Amino acid sequence: MKNLSWYGQDLTGPERDAADALNLLVEIDETIANRVASRTWLVDGVTHDEAQAVVQVQRLAAIDSEAASEIAVLPWFDDGIEEQEWRAVQHVYTVVKHGPLLFQAFKRRSWFHDDISVAEEERLGNFVKVIDPQGDGTGTGVSVASKIVKLGWFNSEIVGTYDNQLLSELSALLAQNLALGARVAGMPFMAESIESHDIGLLRTLYELRGEDLESLTSQGWFEDGIDDDEAIVVTILPSQVNRSPENFRRLLNANFIDKGSAVLSLAGEVNFAIVRLGSVGNGDVMPHLINAAAKVEEFMGLPQPIDEVILLIGAPGGERELSGVNLGGTFIVVRPEDYECCVENETVFAHELVHFYPANRGRVTPPWFREGGADYIAFWVHQQLYNLSFSYVGDPCPAVSVQQLLDEEAAVGPAQHQAGPLFVCNYITGQQLLKAVSEAMGTAAFRDAWQEIQRTAAAGLPPADAKIYEIFRSHTPSSRLTLFEAAYAIWHTGDFD
Ligand SMILES: [Zn+2]
Repeated sequence: MKNLSWYGQDLTGPERDAADALNLLVEIDETIANRVASRTWLVDGVTHDEAQAVVQVQRLAAIDSEAASEIAVLPWFDDGIEEQEWRAVQHVYTVVKHGPLLFQAFKRRSWFHDDISVAEEERLGNFVKVIDPQGDGTGTGVSVASKIVKLGWFNSEIVGTYDNQLLSELSALLAQNLALGARVAGMPFMAESIESHDIGLLRTLYELRGEDLESLTSQGWFEDGIDDDEAIVVTILPSQVNRSPENFRRLLNANFIDKGSAVLSLAGEVNFAIVRLGSVGNGDVMPHLINAAAKVEEFMGLPQPIDEVILLIGAPGGERELSGVNLGGTFIVVRPEDYECCVENETVFAHELVHFYPANRGRVTPPWFREGGADYIAFWVHQQLYNLSFSYVGDPCPAVSVQQLLDEEAAVGPAQHQAGPLFVCNYITGQQLLKAVSEAMGTAAFRDAWQEIQRTAAAGLPPADAKIYEIFRSHTPSSRLTLFEAAYAIWHTGDFD
């Protein structure tokens, strides 16, 4: 204490906490106490974070003085204290309390040793949740944690966001179903590296219930250890429970997975997996899918948002006959008859790829823009890739304007509108509006406007109908404004004044 100039009569809160912890620490281990008390960051005054560092080291020393003395000489403990550093010590306390050997396993790994980043503190926090998934101090996950510390990725620097997500999802599964979580921990899918489908697998195990879960976990391929290919399949299962029990059942049996990857110019490496039910070959689909993804990205001017595109080619299902659907931005279902002939003739793959992008996802923009836009881009992609022109057969939506579609949605609500007979006109009239507008304003100006709409949505401000009009208008060269207004008026019929 005598080194500490701030120590005296009137202590601030942090000074008091640090002094109390130091007094306790002296009783436990004088060497550690001296070491801590001589750190520059403690000598020159005490912040909240610095006080916490002393408090946490003292707590640790109280249960394991050797661990505490090891922490006290680490480079990141020496040079100043940030919040993630004392929190890391706090996590080490919980680790050591439940399993002293667990700390031995990672304490010399460079990810822990050299410095502690926010992501590394998060790794430790999630690891603690695996050890004690109930959060009640019982440490029921210790045996699972002892499998995790043996895995290569856990002993290496953190790559991307999936490493930490996996631990978080695993702890949630352990909290809900300890036996199942313990069973899958350390299986081959999580041995090498962690990808999006590994997270998907754990979510599936968390979401499925009763008979559905039982039929999955009793499969031979599940029992002998899930690998990455199987994890891809399991990722899709929950979406098929209600949409297509037929697909669900068939997915549980052997199936064929075709994997590919491509470096897209904006997104970098993207992985593609095609899961096919049935016997028809799908050799042509993968190159088509990859080429379509690259073209869609080119038009969007934004990186393809998903780093693993999973395509299920399965039976139709759900409330309507659909050729494809993008469920939650992770994958696509296509009914088999749509690709048996010639994949170039099917715009459904490109259409569903468009739905990964911010302004065409979920219910963020009006349906005519989401669906008409997806068709517009898909038609453009096929024109570019195969020189094929697409148009709708006949005139399936005569005189149904965008304004009528918006009015119907406002009157009956989005769900009923989507289930009703007019919904399909969002694709058709929407595409026709966009095509006419693009011809009126010029394709380069149209693409600039389109990209601004995507960026606006990506920033969390998806434009509504009137704003979409404004953005297109603002990009229209003045010499073409009359044409633009006329084209918009014909297909939209709404009043923008
Ligand atoms: Zn669509």
